[in-house]
Amino acid sequence: AAKEKGRNMYLFYNSEMNETLVNKLKIENDLRKALSLGNQLQLYFQPQLDICKNQIVGLEALIRWFHPEKGYIPPLDFIQVAEDSGLIIQLSDWVLKEACAQLRKWQNQGHTNLRVSVNIATKHFQHPGFVSDVTKILAEAQVSPTMLELEITENSLLDSTKSTIDTLKEIYDLGIKIAIDDFGTGYSSLSYLKKFPISTLKIDQTFVYELPENNGDRAIVSSIINLAHNLGLRVIAEGVENKEALHYLQQENCDEMQGYYFSRPLPAEDATALLEKHSTKTCL
Ligand code: C2E
Ligand code: MG
Ligand code: MG
Ligand code: MG
Repeated sequence: AAKEKGRNMYLFYNSEMNETLVNKLKIENDLRKALSLGNQLQLYFQPQLDICKNQIVGLEALIRWFHPEKGYIPPLDFIQVAEDSGLIIQLSDWVLKEACAQLRKWQNQGHTNLRVSVNIATKHFQHPGFVSDVTKILAEAQVSPTMLELEITENSLLDSTKSTIDTLKEIYDLGIKIAIDDFGTGYSSLSYLKKFPISTLKIDQTFVYELPENNGDRAIVSSIINLAHNLGLRVIAEGVENKEALHYLQQENCDEMQGYYFSRPLPAEDATALLEKHSTKTCL
């Protein structure tokens, strides 16, 4: 009977070790490997355009993982794993370093007015060493803090503890910009908008895809644009996939746009070629 029970126990644990957990552990292991090898990870860059001037004013850095067996793994499939395992700090530092090094190259090529945006996971943002790490990376790359924008989500601001506020103030004092990513989809109340030094709202793509047909999305998007402008913030729409959406945003005075309509995220070389074509160089 004991043997029987033992076998059942074994079966019990076996089925409880569900696929998701095994998957998570595998991803965590593979990600650790990828971070130490370096060659599986790559940064892509998606241009952000000033709608009025029709000029590239910034690029968002987006991580890409090309797994040797599984092929491309989307960031949404491993960022959470990286956060849960603590690997996010190392991963995020890598992204920041790569992004700043690439911005330095672009500046050396004469694109002196470009901004680079980096996504910061909540865990990294709340990490005690965060501000000093960013400062060090900027100094090493010889990039001005004013050319860096950090994209955080509303959820990073959920607990407005002293350390969250302090971090934001330190970042602001350095001249680094803060954008609220996926604005309108988080759990925060709007009150943080007046409490914290924020520079940009990024309208989540789910509100943008169906512009201008969707009545609800139109109302939400024009309200966010007005809210941002009334608070003195810049506003950028992501997920712009066609010219109808762009026209609506133009008409509503949205400042910037980003999306497949202008360009998908690109490897650094392709982004460089696009910058040359769509020149952002200042003629002095
Ligand atoms: P996000 O920061 O909101 O990034 C926008 C996502 O929308 C990107 O997906 C981008 O490729 C995609 N996108 C841009 N324009 C369009 C469009 O017109 N249509 C459609 N359908 N999609 C568009 P991606 O690269 O898969 O990234 C997904 C999320 O993963 C990001 O959302 C961000 O939260 C996270 N992520 C990506 N890279 C990093 C990173 O380096 N660090 C951290 N912490 N998170 C990252
Ligand atoms: Mg983003
Ligand atoms: Mg977003
Ligand atoms: Mg998103």
